[in-house]
Amino acid sequence: MAKTVACPVCGAPVAWSPKSPWRPFCSERCKTIDLGDWASERHVIAGRSDAAGEAPAGAGPAPRGH
Ligand SMILES: [Zn+2]
Repeated sequence: MAKTVACPVCGAPVAWSPKSPWRPFCSERCKTIDLGDWASERHVIAGRSDAAGEAPAGAGPAPRGH
């Protein structure tokens, strides 16, 4: 009996078995889409902190008292 999960990207049912090499994604495409989301998100965050010029690493102890 194969367990089925929903693809995190498109919601399609994916059989949780060796026959689904891209699980939990339904296909390589959905896996790429998900990874692309992460990459672009990180890129945006990095670009933002760079543009803001807030305490770059090595500028002293980070004020994280809160
Ligand atoms: Zn999918």
